[in-house]
Amino acid sequence: MTAPARGAAGKPPGRSGRPATAARTTQPDPDNQSWASTPAVRARMQRQPTRDTAPELRLRRALHAAGLRYRVDAPPVPGLRRRADIVFGPAKVAVFVDGCFWHGCPRHGARIPHANPGYWTGKVALNRGRDADTDRQLAAAGWLSVRVWEHEDVSAAAQLVADTVRTARNAQPAA
Ligand SMILES: [Zn+2]
Repeated sequence: MTAPARGAAGKPPGRSGRPATAARTTQPDPDNQSWASTPAVRARMQRQPTRDTAPELRLRRALHAAGLRYRVDAPPVPGLRRRADIVFGPAKVAVFVDGCFWHGCPRHGARIPHANPGYWTGKVALNRGRDADTDRQLAAAGWLSVRVWEHEDVSAAAQLVADTVRTARNAQPAA
């Protein structure tokens, strides 16, 4: 494990000061003002890594700009104890923005911290099993799941979601 270089006392750590074990995307992003903008926000995100992350906020903004309306962090199906990040009720489409690290994305998910690797692989395996189970339960209730990796291009992801929602709406019987 390589610790950030010491020195520069009193200087706040910048992007390059992140621990080497962080598994976030590192591509420069013109739209990342909200990404852990304060220590308090960062701390909250670390406690709740699946709620209101920057990739999720970006996707929500793009979907809203495309004229779509949705619920946020809501249970798609009453009685089903699972929440989706973005829920399109009438269309029955549930969108999940999966964090690369916690959900084990093929590009970034293998960067397991050196400390206690068994714990981390166990957590990721649990999350993945739960994700698959959520998709099965939603499908059984007539819902479509759309899963987007946090590293994915936001306009491509928004397009996929918008297309899925429109197709699903057309497939619904008229209310
Ligand atoms: Zn990724």
